[in-house]
Amino acid sequence: MKVVIVGTGVAGASAAIALRNEGHRGPITLIGSDPEDPYRRPPLSKDFLGGTMPVERTRLKPPTIWAEKEIELIKGANAESIDVGGKTIHLDSGQVLQYDQLLLATGGRPKVLKSEFMDMTHVYTLRHLRDVAPLRNELNAGSHLVVVGAGLIGSEVAATAKGLGVKVTILEAASAPIARLMPAWLGEKVASLHKDMGVKMVMNARIESFNQYEGGVRISMASGNRIDANAVLVAIGMTPNIELAANAEIEVADGIVVDAYGRTSQDSVWAAGDVANMENGFLGGRYRIEHWTNAQDHGVAVAKNILGQNAPYNPVPWCWSDQYGVSLQICGWPDASDDVGVRGDINSNSFLTFFHRKGRLVGSIAFSKPKELRAIRELIGKSPFISPELLSDPKVDLAELAKSQIEAEQFENKRNETAAIKDLVRER
Ligand SMILES: Cc1cc2nc3c(=O)[nH]c(=O)nc-3n(C[C@H](O)[C@H](O)[C@H](O)COP(=O)(O)OP(=O)(O)OC[C@H]3O[C@@H](n4cnc5c(N)ncnc54)[C@H](O)[C@@H]3O)c2cc1C
Repeated sequence: MKVVIVGTGVAGASAAIALRNEGHRGPITLIGSDPEDPYRRPPLSKDFLGGTMPVERTRLKPPTIWAEKEIELIKGANAESIDVGGKTIHLDSGQVLQYDQLLLATGGRPKVLKSEFMDMTHVYTLRHLRDVAPLRNELNAGSHLVVVGAGLIGSEVAATAKGLGVKVTILEAASAPIARLMPAWLGEKVASLHKDMGVKMVMNARIESFNQYEGGVRISMASGNRIDANAVLVAIGMTPNIELAANAEIEVADGIVVDAYGRTSQDSVWAAGDVANMENGFLGGRYRIEHWTNAQDHGVAVAKNILGQNAPYNPVPWCWSDQYGVSLQICGWPDASDDVGVRGDINSNSFLTFFHRKGRLVGSIAFSKPKELRAIRELIGKSPFISPELLSDPKVDLAELAKSQIEAEQFENKRNETAAIKDLVRER
């Protein structure tokens, strides 16, 4: 069986390695439009941008692994079309590859402002390794960086730039950073991380125009204010790369639609990672996850399913973001409209919040509380009907609580199963 994987990001690369580790002996081809060996994106806005991490440490795996695992790595080649009937994939190099199973791990690209703004010099986005050097060249002490978007990537770049002595302004269209996920007071807390470090935060920002001037970009705001920047980073989210799938009549809807096993609507075609629009096995509905751990785990899970292991993938999503020495972690599906409880002192930089929806624990946002967040994530997945009072009680050890709750839940499920079997036997 020949497996072809499109996308050399963490989802595609992890899937390729997992296929081998799980015993697949047939050919594996990993194709990526990126000319680089597979690398990790998280350091691109943190240590690597800051210049404290050498490029070798951004590599996902040692460079020899692809040959060792007999994975054919085709770099710098764009997959242009798929013939699902003939099971072939066509590359821009003219090469045509036959497949038995095809995995699409095409990730996403940064959302952009109008092209007349994006085409200007000193205006950047950040997704690829090649994006880092030009942006870093602009981050000189005393220069002014404007970051459009107070999401995780924008916030991290702001923190890194500040560490390099750059003057930073963040322009955010919403009333608070990551406003959709958290109530205003928590958004204010995230904003204060920046403000305390001297970053200027402009909320409800409406950009009217960019104009080039010598040495930078002049930004005109709807408020009438003008901001002169030496460089502008546009970090307003990402768009999933669905075109390859859509043109092959694979179902797409904010991503490539997959089932719990990673199968798309076309036979023998699978999808994983940031591009996959998957079922939410806990709360219902569908969604996409744009986090590192998910892309990695999903790639591995789908690789196993390609080999016939039939294991549904149903994660409680989790991500982290490092800003000014604080590790901000988010898990589950927090929403600004949920009931929010607190554990710890919100005036410090070490506390945890947890989100309940109709009595069910659905998410958590934590400031430098990794152990507690792990426990909450377990509870969301395995025993979510837990009282906020217990979670906020500082005398309760959350790891112990999660363990005992989950054991009690499993015991109860087993008891119900046994009772059901006894009823069945009695009826017969
Ligand atoms: C700067 C930055 C910092 C981040 N920091 C964090 C963090 O701290 N924590 C966290 O949880 N997450 C973080 N993330 C998100 C995380 O990196 C992504 O969720 C993850 O990389 C997604 O992996 P993926 O393999 O699904 O997609 P991608 O990494 O997007 O890889 C997809 C690959 O497919 C290639 N491709 C697309 N179409 C084609 C085609 N037609 N032919 C050939 N190749 C194609 C693309 O070039 C790309 O290389 C960060 C992301 C960025 C950009």
